[in-house]
Amino acid sequence: MSFNDFEPVIGLEIHAQLLTKSKLFCSCTTQFGLGDNANTCPVCMGMPGALPVLNEQAVEFSTKTGLALSCKIRETSVFARKQYFYPDLPKGYQISQYDKPLCEDGFIEFTLNGVTKHVRIERAHIEEDAGKSIHSGDHTLINLNRAGIPLLEIVSAPDIRSSQEAAEYARTIRQILLYLEVSDGNLEEGSFRCDCNVSVRKKGTEKYGTRTEIKNINSFRFIEKAIDYEIQRQIDCVMSGEKIVQETRLYDPDKNRTFTMRSKEEAMEYRYFPDPDLLPLKVTADHIAKIKESLPELPIARALRFAEQYKIPTGDALALTVEKSLAHYFEEAANISQNPKAAGNWVMTELLRELNNAQKDVTTSPISAKHLGELILEIDKGTISGKIAKTVFLEMWNSQKDPASIIKEKGLVQISDNSSIEKMIDEIISANAGQVEQYRSGKDKLFGFFVGQVMKVSRGQANPELVNNLLRAKLGKSGASNA
Ligand code: ADP
Ligand code: MG
Ligand code: ZN
Repeated sequence: MSFNDFEPVIGLEIHAQLLTKSKLFCSCTTQFGLGDNANTCPVCMGMPGALPVLNEQAVEFSTKTGLALSCKIRETSVFARKQYFYPDLPKGYQISQYDKPLCEDGFIEFTLNGVTKHVRIERAHIEEDAGKSIHSGDHTLINLNRAGIPLLEIVSAPDIRSSQEAAEYARTIRQILLYLEVSDGNLEEGSFRCDCNVSVRKKGTEKYGTRTEIKNINSFRFIEKAIDYEIQRQIDCVMSGEKIVQETRLYDPDKNRTFTMRSKEEAMEYRYFPDPDLLPLKVTADHIAKIKESLPELPIARALRFAEQYKIPTGDALALTVEKSLAHYFEEAANISQNPKAAGNWVMTELLRELNNAQKDVTTSPISAKHLGELILEIDKGTISGKIAKTVFLEMWNSQKDPASIIKEKGLVQISDNSSIEKMIDEIISANAGQVEQYRSGKDKLFGFFVGQVMKVSRGQANPELVNNLLRAKLGKSGASNA
């Protein structure tokens, strides 16, 4: 038996913070980065007698997400208490949903290495976040700013078969949340965290192996690395005849390994029961239908539409729909330029390169989609060459001016009349008699030299096609192959 005789089986639990202004059951702000325990009140501190009031916006956002993940929405779902004792859990229980979650039985699809992958979503339920313990020396400090923050937990079926697929699945979920504007998906601030359940089985067998769960990963790269480590560790275990223990593990990015956090024997019994302080949550069929109608076009649908409507390669369409703002930008530039292929290329190469260098995104781009579209129009009209366009582009970046003004101010209009180009060529021919003779006696390569000279004299503004044609006529030899 070897590594390749095994197949990994992976399921992800993603915790996404919902983009509400206030917490799930109280009016405390969800704003990040305020002073320790600044965002707290008797409800989220779990004071006796304080009662929770459900945040309607959190329900809207969750329903929206459930529908976007093709889930069935339960018209009556139930909040339950999940009991455990931990210093950062003030009530001694977390309010979550258990056997009657809001969303169930959905799926998403994404493309990885050209293959479409289908992953089922078992459920998505609303729950509150816990606080944060900060360990320092022999003290532990508690910050309850996160306690009561609304989360949507999205649970996949064990349909994922590689670490790469797992990361792509998580990226796709995040992309959908951002398109829906229900979460900011901020990984650094903990708005998007992932638990990875991993097991291995011999290829060709049906039965799943014993799984371990790696908790709280907040980067796509670490999802891949943690899962890869865990797959290898489990295969090593099985091959050396050991039993895999069902347990919760943590990933240490510095050492690039996972280690035991708690085993099944220590696993908690949460004693779930319906929270008597909260009524069952009702969402009417009418309301669900309304939310469904209001869903925006989702990333994959948009990519497929781009490919078809704008006749661009699917790979380009996928890249251009990674973010909603980028997709909007492309679409505006494509429409204004009436040349979607060129618009896509300019966005994916020149624009994204400059934005990356400047650590900006399209929403703060100094070049608007309209101006980029106009630049492409100038090229297609023949006002400027593709090469000069790059100069204009950089000038647009620096000055935020429109391309027509820059072309006019800097005198960059392409020279497209025969007589001015002929005049330049005549001068070059008389100034380079030696090269002309060599060329005429068979040194074809020199053609490029003459093109270069014309471009130099015209400061890059001579129409390249005309230059080629006229040079060939004037040099009196058609042997040049690099025209
Ligand atoms: P729990 O509620 O104890 O966390 P669930 O059955 O709800 O357990 O599963 C949680 C996650 O673990 C899901 O994403 C599911 O796909 C995944 N999972 C379940 N069994 C396995 C397995 N044998 N291997 C890998 N992942 C699994
Ligand atoms: Mg779990
Ligand atoms: Zn509060």
